[in-house]
Amino acid sequence: MILQFFGAAQAVTGSMHLVQANGYRVLLDCGMVQGRRQESRRLNSEFPFDAKSINAVVLSHAHLDHSGKLPMLVKKGFEGAIFSTSATRDLCSAMLQDSASLQEMDAKYVNKLNAKMGLPFIKSLYTTRDVTASLRLFQTLEYERTTEILPGFKLTFRNAGHILGSATVALDIAEGQGERKVTRLAFTGDLGREGAAVVRDPVVFDRADVLITESTYGGRYHGPMNEAKEKLAKIVNETAQNRGLLIIPAFAVGRTQDVVYHLHELMESKQIPPMPVYVDSPLATNITEIFRQHPECYDEETERLLLQDGGTDPFGFARLVYTHSTEDSKKLNDAPRPAIIISASGMCEGGRVLHHLRRNIGDPRTTVLFVGFQAENTLGRKLLSGDRTARIYGEEYEVRARIEEIEGYSAHADGGELLDFISAIPKKPEKVFVVHGEPNAAAALAAGLDKRGFGDIAIPARGDRFEISS
Ligand SMILES: [Zn+2]
Repeated sequence: MILQFFGAAQAVTGSMHLVQANGYRVLLDCGMVQGRRQESRRLNSEFPFDAKSINAVVLSHAHLDHSGKLPMLVKKGFEGAIFSTSATRDLCSAMLQDSASLQEMDAKYVNKLNAKMGLPFIKSLYTTRDVTASLRLFQTLEYERTTEILPGFKLTFRNAGHILGSATVALDIAEGQGERKVTRLAFTGDLGREGAAVVRDPVVFDRADVLITESTYGGRYHGPMNEAKEKLAKIVNETAQNRGLLIIPAFAVGRTQDVVYHLHELMESKQIPPMPVYVDSPLATNITEIFRQHPECYDEETERLLLQDGGTDPFGFARLVYTHSTEDSKKLNDAPRPAIIISASGMCEGGRVLHHLRRNIGDPRTTVLFVGFQAENTLGRKLLSGDRTARIYGEEYEVRARIEEIEGYSAHADGGELLDFISAIPKKPEKVFVVHGEPNAAAALAAGLDKRGFGDIAIPARGDRFEISS
C-alpha cells in the first residue's frame, strides 16, 4: 500500500490523502485550502495528480476543508464514486451549492474593485453546475455497515462526533496473491468532543494497523462546556451594556448549535437580556431541514426532544431570525443594537461575515467572538493574533472592535481527548501519521503519543509518500 499526503499536512485545511493498493487509487477527503489568498487559489484550482486516475473518494464529513474541492475534481474528469454517509451527502448538497454561489458572488465583488483599479478579473473556481455533477456521483453508506467499495477495499464508517453525518474511516485493504493479508487503515477525519450537543459521541476504532489522525488542538486543553457558557454570558452582557454588536463568525453547521442552545438557556434564565440573534446565512433553512431528516445521527437528548416532546424546535432554530436574501442581510446594518449576528465563513475567508466586519470592525462597541479553529494566514487568525488592521476585499480597515475567543465550543477534540481516543484502540497501530494540525499542534500530539508508547509516528509534509509493506 502506498500513502501520499496532499493536504492538511502540517496544516489544518485542504484535507486530502491518497491511498494506492491493488492498482486502485482511493482519495480520502477532497478539501479546500484556506489561507493566503494567492496560494490558496492556486492549490484549490489544481491537483497534484490526474483526477481521471482516481477510482473512488471516501469523504469523512461535509465541512468544506474536507469536501470543498469535489466539484473541482469532477470538473477535471473524475468519474468514480464518492462514498459518504447520507447526512454528509445531504449537507454537501447544501454546502457545496453555497460554496459555489459564494465564490461567484465574491468574484463579482472583487471584479468590481479590480475594474476600478485596472486589475485583471478573477473567475470563481467552480460553478453550481459542477456541484450538481458531483452530487450525481455520491453513494451513501450508513455507520457500521461494512461494504466492499472496490476489489480488496472494504469500508466502514463510524460516528466521529464532529458534525452531523461525520465519520471516521476504516479501510480494510486486502493485498497480495493467494492468501491475502488484510491491512486496516484507519482515518479519524475530524474528531469531535464527548458530550457535545446534537451528535453522538465518537466511536473508538475496533482495530487499526495504520492510523491517520487529526491533531487540530494537539497539546491544547479546551476546558469544560460550562466555562464556555459563562464566558459567553459575560461577553453578551458587555455587548448589551454598550449597545454594541456581537459578531460570531461561524458556519451553519458545527458548534453553532451549542452556542445557540446556550444563548437560549441564558436568555430564559435571565442571565443575559433578550436581544435578537440573527443567523445571516442563506443556508440556514436547508440545514435545519437536513438535521430533521437525520435522526440516526442524534444523541439521546436530541432524539428525545425531537421525537418525543412533540417534535418542536430541538435546535433552537425557531428562536432565531434568519436572513436569506442579500437584501435582508444588508438590512442588518440598520438593525437596532444590541444584537448578535452569526455568519459565515467561520475563518472570515469569504461570505457575508466579511461585509459585517467591513462595516463594524472599526467600532469599539463591536465584539468579534471566535468559536472555531482559525487556520494560519486567515483573516480570523490575524484578528485573533491582535492585528490592528484588517484587509477585506483588498481594502484596509482599522480594527477597533474587541476580539474574543471561546475554545470550549470547538467541534474538535482537544489534545487529551485525541490521545485518549487513540489509546483506546485495543492494539496499538504499527504506524501513526499525524495530519490536520499546524506544526506545533502536530508535534505536541506526536510527543504525547510517543510518551504513551506508540512507536512509529510520522508528521508528513505535503506531497510526502510512504510505502507500507503488507
Ligand atoms: Zn470538520
